[in-house]
Amino acid sequence: MLRSFISIIVLACVVSAAESCVTNSEGRKSFNMIGDGQMNNLGDDAYKEVLTKAQKEGKLLSKSSPKHEVVERIGLRIAAASKADFKWEFAVIDDPKTVNAFCLPGGKIAVYTGIMPVAQTEAALAVVMGHEVAHATMRHGAERMSQQLAIAGLATAADISLKDSKNRDLWMAALAVGANFGVILPYGRGHETEADSVGLKYAASAGYDPSAAPELWKRMGASGMSPPEFMSTHPDPSNRSRALAAMQDQVKPLYDGSEKQTDRPLPK
Ligand SMILES: [Zn+2]
Repeated sequence: MLRSFISIIVLACVVSAAESCVTNSEGRKSFNMIGDGQMNNLGDDAYKEVLTKAQKEGKLLSKSSPKHEVVERIGLRIAAASKADFKWEFAVIDDPKTVNAFCLPGGKIAVYTGIMPVAQTEAALAVVMGHEVAHATMRHGAERMSQQLAIAGLATAADISLKDSKNRDLWMAALAVGANFGVILPYGRGHETEADSVGLKYAASAGYDPSAAPELWKRMGASGMSPPEFMSTHPDPSNRSRALAAMQDQVKPLYDGSEKQTDRPLPK
């Protein structure tokens, strides 16, 4: 299955228009058939849907709540560090059982309160948010959707719409908000590693101590929960923790040159 999946992507890369295969800022060849404008529209639609559902269930925290304040403050610093030209929005969903967060294409961020006791401090939450923002800035959602389109044998992404109910669940899953809809397409290991690396740079540049990252992933592993995004393609958190420890030398100059932020405990 995996082999045929890879062949399809390689084939799609070969036969599709040249702009479908681009080298991203990390020097990796990526396969993307979907434009930013279209991805951002999908991101907006998916975000509205998630927030409307949370609002109905009384789980959407007010913008004046301490948890929202901390998420928005850290998020704006990560956003600035990413230099992405997104229309950033932040939301906190009060769901203690969900150890998760996401950033949709175009910069629509949601953090579930379940991740806060695991993150414990602002620096660790910055690492989490850096990781999520990196998925968006590196266009991982568009790549994943392009793979889905290639598998479905579709030559064009022109008709993708969340309103098209036939494909809607697939697109939502590809956007990593599928946990709310019973399905999810995990990011591949390559995307996870890239998001860890790029995200750690964002957090360090934003003034958050990157040395919080290895311990965070140890706690994530020890939490005994299976967060839909974070653990799905990293069955061994200790490997991830080691990889993040090995990146410390690389990101230290960014942290040293940043406007350092005091690492405070997250609000309970
Ligand atoms: Zn991820």
